[in-house]
Amino acid sequence: MPARNLTILGATGTIGVNTLDVVAMHPQRYRVLALTGQNQVERLATQCRQFKPLYAVVTDEARARELRHLLADTETEVLWGERALEEVASLPEVDTVMAAIVGTAGLKPTLAAARAGKRILLANKETLVMAGRFFMQAVRRGGATLLPIDSEHNAVFQCMPEPYSGDLDTHGVRRILLTASGGPFRTRALDTLDRVTPEEAVAHPNWVMGRKISVDSATMMNKGLEVIEAHWLFNARPEQIEVVIHPQSIVHSMVEYRDGSVLAQLSHPDMRTPIAHALAYPDRIEAGVTWLDLTRVGPLSFEAPDLRRFPCLGLAYRALAAGGAAPAVLNAANEVAVQAFLDRRIPYPAIADTLAHALDRLADRPAGELDALVAIDQEARAVAAAYIDAR
Ligand code: NAD
Ligand code: MG
Repeated sequence: MPARNLTILGATGTIGVNTLDVVAMHPQRYRVLALTGQNQVERLATQCRQFKPLYAVVTDEARARELRHLLADTETEVLWGERALEEVASLPEVDTVMAAIVGTAGLKPTLAAARAGKRILLANKETLVMAGRFFMQAVRRGGATLLPIDSEHNAVFQCMPEPYSGDLDTHGVRRILLTASGGPFRTRALDTLDRVTPEEAVAHPNWVMGRKISVDSATMMNKGLEVIEAHWLFNARPEQIEVVIHPQSIVHSMVEYRDGSVLAQLSHPDMRTPIAHALAYPDRIEAGVTWLDLTRVGPLSFEAPDLRRFPCLGLAYRALAAGGAAPAVLNAANEVAVQAFLDRRIPYPAIADTLAHALDRLADRPAGELDALVAIDQEARAVAAAYIDAR
């Protein structure tokens, strides 16, 4: 089998590092053609020395100079800027693109991969939340293939009939059940949530992840974004997507069929499993993970989410029902609010307040094409920032 040629967008992040970890186990199967990163120039340089890509991309010129210096004796060409991200995502010799940049910064390069008909391993859920209809259209028109990396959607994908037609009803699917760990504040007294610190919020009980997605897990905004992600990936109506809290993070999601069958995918919470699944699909390869011994993991429990504790989850359903640009508004306001919380400028409960405010102001905007989506994203950021400043 010829090796697959990879571009890894966001190589220096948690998903990027896990991807390279799996790739390193299978040197015959994968060749890395491009790696990208933002700030961690030293880490990117080390990765380039190990994987010898043709291109390495950073966001600005100063970092490009730094990286060029570090890689002076290598063959890797260093590029910088947004356009360069789009270029390495659509190189003719690349067949697979891991989309693992965090936030809306991932949209344009992921879109470039879609238009170029690549096999896209999609970790960057914000692309689907911000521009779901537009992005899915680009995937269809470009002849691209989407494979979900988010552990829940990867689990759903694995429990779905193949090939999936894009219509749940024709396959007899009744509901998609997305599991959620409930994060670090699942049992914390509600009246103490205004005092939680960024350190407590990013200390996820089961997963090691970037800071933004860790805060999103604490508020369950992450699950809200994933409900919207599931809507676009599987063409599921909001009432066909249910969230179940499962604190052990062993069952990664489930699909319920008309006949009462529920299929689940289980594994230890280690992103290398969904990454290896999507990298090799439809083959199966080793991921380097610990084997799951159900006799040792202890009881698995499930409970319904409490929307008073997790108002962000309710806001995500509200944005999905509103349609149009509402999910883009939610996503942009969330990025601003999470950053303000991490910078200790607002207390934890104000994250949800900021999102509700942005939705009240902007939820009825139509979605439109890329320029309109970028404009509404900017407007939502401004509305959220003004709300935070005025508090
Ligand atoms: P991270 O913060 O660890 O890494 C983010 C990567 O994006 C880094 O390589 C960084 O250099 C790059 N980046 C950040 N801002 C950028 C910008 N403006 N321009 C270009 N590059 C930029 O995040 P992560 O945890 O690896 O998550 C990446 C994506 O995967 C997110 O969309 C997240 O929601 C999704 N995801 C992550 C996990 C997980 O377990 N970590 C699970 C499911 C989905
Ligand atoms: Mg997830």
